[in-house]
Amino acid sequence: MGAAILGNMSGSEKLTIGWLYPDLMNMYGDRGNILTLLKRAEWRGLTPNVVELGRGPAANMEDVDVFFFGGGQDREQALIYDDLKQFKRESLQKAAADGAQVLAVCGGYQLLGHYYQTADGERYNGIGLIDVITEAGRKRFIGDVVIESTIEGLNPSTLIGFENHSGRTFLGAKAEPLGKVLKGKGNNGSDRREGCIQGNVIGTYMHGSLLPKNPHLADYLISRALKRRVDGALSPLDDSAELAAHGWILQRAQRR
Ligand code: GLN
Repeated sequence: MGAAILGNMSGSEKLTIGWLYPDLMNMYGDRGNILTLLKRAEWRGLTPNVVELGRGPAANMEDVDVFFFGGGQDREQALIYDDLKQFKRESLQKAAADGAQVLAVCGGYQLLGHYYQTADGERYNGIGLIDVITEAGRKRFIGDVVIESTIEGLNPSTLIGFENHSGRTFLGAKAEPLGKVLKGKGNNGSDRREGCIQGNVIGTYMHGSLLPKNPHLADYLISRALKRRVDGALSPLDDSAELAAHGWILQRAQRR
């Protein structure tokens, strides 16, 4: 892992990470995604910082390079979906259109879509940043997830994580799946698709946390975010520990 020389970017290059609702939408190790982005930026000589975007008006969202939106139970989603619409929607839409990257997991993923409907029929309107809808079923989908990603050039092409959700998500015409399900339930347990990728927005059901065991996806987000200012080429890191963990989960998933 050690320090690596920086590609062709000056050491003072900043990387701002915007963490949506860290107090309420943060489960199954989601915080690990923030730590991974911070560390992988630091190891490239970048100057990363985290902006916490809790409930209420949020300033400076235009400065954010990578947004992270974690998961939450129905109760937590009910506490934030109005705030998301009122105080975050416009800035998120503008930032994503301007090249900022958005990674949303599970409950966060659901609320970036058109709506999330609980198993009791209660509907939480989303912000329609991605063309997906979610309706919960009675049975929760819990366990390891392994997907073959649709992201071109991602190496390895697999992504792994852990899912625990009642929501069944269906993609509209504008949204592509993040990958094909090799193990687990994914979006809805029937169409063998997992997650969603639409422009600069990635949604997924993979907790775990996701990025520590998928460093290639973390670099994908950092590199794309930096491309707004510099060429975004990242110097390689020694990811042997991360990829060993990735490989181990792959094998375990195949055994089960
Ligand atoms: N409450 C949502 C569901 O059950 C999301 C759960 C989560 O974020 N893990 O599907």
